[in-house]
Amino acid sequence: MGGNLALDFINTRSGPPVGPPDDDVLTGYPELVAWAAYAGALREPEAAALRRLSRDDPDGAHAAFARSLRVRDDLDEVFRAVAADQDPSTSVLARLRDDEADALGHARLDRGRTFGWTWRDDQTLARPLRPVVHAAVQLLTTGALNRIKGCRGCRFLFNDESKNRSRRWCSMDDCGTSEKMRRYVAARRAKPRPLVHPDER
Ligand SMILES: [Zn+2]
Repeated sequence: MGGNLALDFINTRSGPPVGPPDDDVLTGYPELVAWAAYAGALREPEAAALRRLSRDDPDGAHAAFARSLRVRDDLDEVFRAVAADQDPSTSVLARLRDDEADALGHARLDRGRTFGWTWRDDQTLARPLRPVVHAAVQLLTTGALNRIKGCRGCRFLFNDESKNRSRRWCSMDDCGTSEKMRRYVAARRAKPRPLVHPDER
């Protein structure tokens, strides 16, 4: 939906465009693994291995989950600032650098069409986070920053890949439509129907 793994990770929290989120997909480590598999950040055998690992090491899973929420807060801060054409704080960018260094420290270079980082050998509980952090840094360093936008109708962030950068909603079929309906209704409500003069009846 966001057009980038890091933005999709931020979008695991939903709600109105401003103010606190009102729903969260990530309620625990198993949900983090399920989301990562759904988003294509993990293959199913990797997800199964992580589920086993988390059962054997509940404290480690708890720590990895707490870390993933911290990373999500950081990415949220960074990309919401970029979407508003503002600069993220130096402290949040330093944490992102450390997370990226950690991600690459667990990666290996695999040959596809070009060489790229993969995490096939990484059997640590923080495995689901690695490609998310790397996607965030990739987007910040090689993406078009003016394509990173916030939905007008909800808190979702997306990478606008439309030709003329005209996208305003997270999804034209969903949020956009419901927002347009809300505005239509609000505009109707704001304009009271003129009273008909008795002579015109
Ligand atoms: Zn939306």
